[in-house]
Amino acid sequence: MRKPVIGGNWKMNKTPQEGVELVAELRDDLGDMADVEVIICPPYPALLPIGSELAGGNIKLGAQDLYWEKEGAFTGQVSPGMLRACGCQYVIIGHSERRHVFGETDAQVAKKVRAALDEGLKPILCVGELLAEREVGETEIVVKRQLEAALAGVRGEEISTLVIAYEPVWAIGTGRASTAEDAQDVAHFIRRTLAGLYDREKSEAVRIQYGGSVKPENVKFYLAEADIDGALVGGASLKAAVFAQLIRNSTGR
Ligand code: PEP
Repeated sequence: MRKPVIGGNWKMNKTPQEGVELVAELRDDLGDMADVEVIICPPYPALLPIGSELAGGNIKLGAQDLYWEKEGAFTGQVSPGMLRACGCQYVIIGHSERRHVFGETDAQVAKKVRAALDEGLKPILCVGELLAEREVGETEIVVKRQLEAALAGVRGEEISTLVIAYEPVWAIGTGRASTAEDAQDVAHFIRRTLAGLYDREKSEAVRIQYGGSVKPENVKFYLAEADIDGALVGGASLKAAVFAQLIRNSTGR
């Protein structure tokens, strides 16, 4: 049985103080939500104070990116160990904004996944096609390429620690969400690809999220699909009351 997992990706929003206020409000609003795993992914400067605020509770902390080296002359980068020291358990890797705004390659994504696992961080690996790729019927080709590259160094016993987020690029921040049926088709394809890379049993243990304009109003349709186990949420995670409602709606409360 896969536990639903909802992640909030704040992107480049919220000062540390604003972030602490948001998570305090969210925690009070949600109370003990044992049936869904909630992960908050703030910008780097807010990780440490939010990690302290969340300590001992059941909301988890994640980062939005990392660098694969442990330390050294890498100006502007943050290591896996530094994220652990802030209280992170998860890290988003290969988000479409990293790939398409900052030119991150499949090979770099693979190094980041490996470095995260080596530090005991759980990767939320993002994959997804551009609109132009969908329009020419290349969604599966793109998603398979991204998965095979990112998972090249991941062993069978490690795969269930990853969360795979299927995020069609054209649906992110656009208000143009995928239909639940289309998202399910790709989530199913992802699970079949994992079964090919590992085996069926291992693929069944991996949690797959949908991301792209998920809101309190539509989240339940995605979670009702057989291969979708959660959502990665951008805009709708920036207000505590909205995100809390989305989380409650995901489990049908
Ligand atoms: C995201 O940033 O991963 C995302 C899905 O954003 P939004 O929910 O705003 O579309």
